[in-house]
Amino acid sequence: MRKPKFQSVVGMHDILPEDQKYFKKIYDTVSNIAGFYGYGRIDTPVVEDAELFSKGIGVSTDIVKKEMYTLRTKGGDLLALRPEWTAPIVRAYIENGMQSLPQPLKIWYWGPCFRYEHPQAGRYRQFWQFGFEVLGEKGAVIDAQIIQIFYSILRELKLKNLIVEINSIGDNQCRPYYKKLLANYFKSRASSLCLDCRRRLQENVLRILDCKEEKCQPLKADAPQILDHLCEECRAHFKEVLEFLDEIGLPYRLNPYLVRGLDYYTKTVFEIFSEKENENQVALAGGGRYDKLVKLLGGRDTAGCGAAAGIERMVNLMKASDANFPETGEAQIFFAQLGGLAKKKGLNLLEEFRKAKIGVAESFGRDSLKAQLARADKLGVKYTLILGQKEALEGTMIIRDMGSGKQEIVKLEKVVEAVKKRIKK
Ligand code: AMP
Repeated sequence: MRKPKFQSVVGMHDILPEDQKYFKKIYDTVSNIAGFYGYGRIDTPVVEDAELFSKGIGVSTDIVKKEMYTLRTKGGDLLALRPEWTAPIVRAYIENGMQSLPQPLKIWYWGPCFRYEHPQAGRYRQFWQFGFEVLGEKGAVIDAQIIQIFYSILRELKLKNLIVEINSIGDNQCRPYYKKLLANYFKSRASSLCLDCRRRLQENVLRILDCKEEKCQPLKADAPQILDHLCEECRAHFKEVLEFLDEIGLPYRLNPYLVRGLDYYTKTVFEIFSEKENENQVALAGGGRYDKLVKLLGGRDTAGCGAAAGIERMVNLMKASDANFPETGEAQIFFAQLGGLAKKKGLNLLEEFRKAKIGVAESFGRDSLKAQLARADKLGVKYTLILGQKEALEGTMIIRDMGSGKQEIVKLEKVVEAVKKRIKK
């Protein structure tokens, strides 16, 4: 096939009608859970001041260093397409005076993010995320509730082989000392590290811990572990989070190498994967606590905790599973027409069904009754309404029971009522 003249930008993709039912299923599940737990929806602009991210996420992180889409405006401002949501939400929280609302403030979001990454299966340059954030609550119960919410959503969507990994990366009291310890350990072994890790040693030593290079694994295994170096407060907090998770029976795995790529985290960090034997792990969601971020971005000292999930990755797994997800706005009946007058009357009739909240499929482009009935069959509707020339003139309509093939004639103005009654049965 010849390449079309225009293609979507590398790493970006269309979400086609056939994929929308998965998006809708995820959206419905997420918004229901959000409503139940008292989270309000927020939307923020897709572009922000680039400095919001360099300051919030950290200049030496992969996201800011390599992956941010930035643009210079005509007025000279440096903006960035949102690579993640937490910094924009904290910006909105401060800017809109949400600190004076009753705390904690619970918010959720849904929308696209942009990262200039190397595109591969499940890794895109524009991808969709949803997430939950809680501002103004220090207690470990919130860390556990966030994990529980994400785990419940993934379970409800019938995603299997879920693994929750959790770690604590300490705070400003204990992390600097641990980082020094780690740097000393790796410095004396630098020649055995991969090139990237040698750079990380200078810039962000914690990131060596989540390096996937074969070469670095033996060194990582013997490195000092943060859990042995947490301060009293962080240790107690982490212990409490784990106790809450034990209490609700949520299975987790401690992963001392889990650090997450962003500078703003303190204390708890977690990720949820789908993991099948002999297959690569797929990271579905990740997050943690960020107690210093609000202050860092200019607000009052306020604790925060939250996480985000990657929607396309979930859709890919849902598609691969044999779980059955219904079509959106699933049609209950089919409208078949023959001739110009029937088509004209049909447009109004569909509107009446829409108002009555009855899903109707049609095929106005097809003229043969046989082809239309075949389409109705394929959709698996229970009834087909047939409006031919004769019926259109007489003001009647045929209701055909697709199971038995039985047909009845009803008055056109009564058809919505008649269908309602049959569907209810
Ligand atoms: P992160 O905060 O980077 O861990 O992102 C949270 C979730 O978003 C991940 O667990 C992935 O499911 C998803 N995600 C992150 N980056 C991408 C990407 N480039 N393409 C698709 N999904 C992504």
